[in-house]
Amino acid sequence: MSVFSEYKREIMNAAHNERIRTALSRAIASYRKNVGEALTRFPHTTALAEEVRGIKERSIAMMAELAAEASRSIEENHGKAYIAKTAGDALAIIGQIVGTKKLIVKGKSMTCDEIGLRQHLEGLGNEVYETDLGEFIMQKLDLPPMHILSPAIHVPKEDVAKLFSKITGEELPPDIEKLVAAARKLLRAKFFAADIGITGANVVAADTGTLFLIENEGNIRLATSAPPVHVALVGMEKLVPTLGEAFKVSEVTWRYANYAMPSYVSLVSGPSKTGDIEKVTTYGAHGPGEFHVIFLDDGRAELARHPVLRQALYCLRCGGCLYECPVFAVTAGHFGDKYFAGVGAVWARQISRDPEKAAAIAYTCLACGRCRVRCPVRIDTPQMIIELRKQITEGDRSSDKTFSE
Ligand code: SF4
Repeated sequence: MSVFSEYKREIMNAAHNERIRTALSRAIASYRKNVGEALTRFPHTTALAEEVRGIKERSIAMMAELAAEASRSIEENHGKAYIAKTAGDALAIIGQIVGTKKLIVKGKSMTCDEIGLRQHLEGLGNEVYETDLGEFIMQKLDLPPMHILSPAIHVPKEDVAKLFSKITGEELPPDIEKLVAAARKLLRAKFFAADIGITGANVVAADTGTLFLIENEGNIRLATSAPPVHVALVGMEKLVPTLGEAFKVSEVTWRYANYAMPSYVSLVSGPSKTGDIEKVTTYGAHGPGEFHVIFLDDGRAELARHPVLRQALYCLRCGGCLYECPVFAVTAGHFGDKYFAGVGAVWARQISRDPEKAAAIAYTCLACGRCRVRCPVRIDTPQMIIELRKQITEGDRSSDKTFSE
């Protein structure tokens, strides 16, 4: 079966799945209410988002310089920084740091999903635990995430109860508090036994080499501080010049991601250290003694040079557009390939380099523009979709290839 036929079968099945529609309609209603309340409580956010668009435009135009500057800053902070040209380079670097037979606790990261990091590390003989609750559920169900922020958005509590009962060997009721407590108990032991914590980052300040990590569960705090080694994989589009700008980008990200204020924002700039004995700086106090940051290019520099498609790099991954997308509302993450909906089509074409899948996604998009209205940084997804379709058609003509069944 061709990629297109497989995609068509998957998306049609999803569109007829009543549970996806019910779960999504509840999530959409609650997202709109929460963001509406957050923007009323913090009315400066809209003007700040406008400023953030300017920060992203400037940062993407100087992404390579920012990656070099951030690497220098991290090394000055006694961390180690790497620039990975391709996904293969990133897997090789991280594989070398991690080695084999390690216990790893991992925070949710689209960039890690993009390069298949968990599967790669498992293949090297390591045990990897996703620690974001939704991601943990999807890992145990052996399914891909269905939303950039809420990976298990379509899984009802009854299914989670069945899954967790099987994992723990205890009969657990479909009671959300009890299910969260069961996950906490299971994962808590892993955080403190782990050899390595792996995360992404929401934003990185190049001048200080500081990673901003936004979350609510507390799993990122633990993954970045309990194990002796912290490894972060970061797409180069997350870089901004200064700490002050990183704060601005972070605030807009969390506000449009459904939160007036997230429970935790962690700033990590280097390994843990102390100077408490005779003022001698010693690395590896209570937190990790090793801090490794891998900046991933993998098509981003090329994308940044395109006058229309570079807008995809401005994306804050707030997920707001997904709640406005009429196709996503009935298909969830089946409308995409690691990154979702219209903006996901650009990522599929440029980053994962799957032109056939990207073409299928680009032609599923209605180019209705509802996403553009919600987007804090005014990404014009319909414009990018038209550009993608143009490229696909021109590519088809030159290779005489058609995306038909
Ligand atoms: S395209 Fe805009 S609304 Fe959608 S996730 Fe990115 S920043 Fe958020």
